[in-house]
Amino acid sequence: MSSEPRAGSLARPTGPAGSPGASWGLGEGQAIPWEYAPSPEARDIVAIRERYGLVIDGREVAAADGGEFVDLNPATEEPLAVVARATPADVDRAVRAARRAQRRRWGNLPGKERAKYLFRIARILQERSRELAVLETLDTGKPIKESRDVDIPLVAAHFWYYAGWADKLDYAFPGRVARPLGVAGQIIPWNFPLLMLAWKIAPALAAGNTVVLKPASTTPLSALRFAEICREADLPPGVVNIVPGPGEIGAYLAAHRGVDKVAFTGSTAVGRQIAASVAGTDKALTLELGGKAANIIFEDAALDQAVEGIVNGIYFNQGEVCCAGSRLLVQESIVDVVIDKLKDRLATLRVGDPLDKNTDVGAINSRAQLEKIEELVASGVAEGAELYQPACQLPERGYFFRPTLFTNVAQSHRIAREEIFGPVLSVLSFRTPDEAIEKANNTEYGLSAGIWTEKGSRILEMARRLRAGVVWANTYNKFDPTSPFGGYKESGFGREGGLHGLLAYVRLEDR
Ligand code: NDP
Repeated sequence: MSSEPRAGSLARPTGPAGSPGASWGLGEGQAIPWEYAPSPEARDIVAIRERYGLVIDGREVAAADGGEFVDLNPATEEPLAVVARATPADVDRAVRAARRAQRRRWGNLPGKERAKYLFRIARILQERSRELAVLETLDTGKPIKESRDVDIPLVAAHFWYYAGWADKLDYAFPGRVARPLGVAGQIIPWNFPLLMLAWKIAPALAAGNTVVLKPASTTPLSALRFAEICREADLPPGVVNIVPGPGEIGAYLAAHRGVDKVAFTGSTAVGRQIAASVAGTDKALTLELGGKAANIIFEDAALDQAVEGIVNGIYFNQGEVCCAGSRLLVQESIVDVVIDKLKDRLATLRVGDPLDKNTDVGAINSRAQLEKIEELVASGVAEGAELYQPACQLPERGYFFRPTLFTNVAQSHRIAREEIFGPVLSVLSFRTPDEAIEKANNTEYGLSAGIWTEKGSRILEMARRLRAGVVWANTYNKFDPTSPFGGYKESGFGREGGLHGLLAYVRLEDR
């Protein structure tokens, strides 16, 4: 995959019709005569220790059996750190510590006292934002400009937001008394590790719960750094416990009898297993699972703006986003022009070193994920879709994949049905709004969707009929802590963010 010239260097490929050179006033196949200078973010702002333990009851400890695993940098395949691998006995200890902390301390603190801790954490997150952004980029492979400008600011924003609710639960749920649920078992994925942690820990703590959190095995470092921040904020021991470990540890945590609430973000397959293990208990459960969002573009849309939105919708975070706009539905009259503009734009995306501030598309998070993307892309070709990839040279090492566009896609193709979780866009067309709705809703998922049109009435009508938890209009991938996020159907249930996200961590009683 790595032998051709690099589009990111703007040495353009000869490309198909509508070659990128054209928009720069150059002839077909002519290279842009300049190159971006490398602009690497300083790596040494973050000190990564050789080894990390679990964090239980405010202390860093080895796993009960001494087990460890190696955490890699996906952009270089080099080890970043060795991390303790929790065992069931460790999870037992963490749940006991969380229970003690909830009963004896955290659950009894007045809301305004809990708020002080959360505000303190938010402030430290902001103060350490550059360090956290670099750490997150090293561990996930995502471009530094995304971790710096999106992930970490949103992480802090969630703590500010929920800190504000901690002493106002009576106003959040008027006429009711909001009680904490107890101990929350939280399992997060690798695509937005610290942000998913914030979505789960901030509302849980604001409402008086304590947590045991299992990060993904490929991205444990920011959760462990967060535990340091909790110590720096003097958070009482046991309120936040971090237990890195394999999927079985997630399963053990979700099924644990000492856990009152389970919150999971990840694949639909694992979500199903967790739902089965929680069924029949009185545990509360929220599941935020996969997606196959339709980004729908009408002929009256502002096309250049829409193309930017489409690119952001699918190539942001290498497409490893549950709400990625991975199916593009284009009105038939503008298919050719949209595809030309997209190809043109794709060729300017810079793929490579995630720590370079000019990089648009970084590394895929793991070899397994890269293999999954490759397999699904091969299936697209085998099933008859037409593949387009800009000719960019990928780094020699690391898990990289070219931004990919499929045309000639049928709804039955796997690339139109399955979550790829990679930088791969499948283009389909439609003639009427009804057909767009039918195709958009023709998926087992229901997490998000996008609409591009200048007609406000059409936006409202489409949004009403789209079976998706979040619908963006003339924009995409906009997040805010005040806004609930979650899905329908196989995309899960329950909402995170906003008051809905707080509701998921309280039991409401009559006054
Ligand atoms: P998983 O659902 O396996 O991983 C998400 C989290 O769940 C990780 O912390 C993982 O731990 C943990 N986990 C794994 N198995 C279990 C289990 N049986 N019980 C409880 N927790 C478990 O996703 P993958 O990493 O395997 O990715 C596969 C696909 O899932 C992706 O290609 C993508 O399509 C989808 N996905 C969707 C996400 C979303 O945001 N909706 C996020 C991540 C993936 P560990 O890392 O140790 O395996």
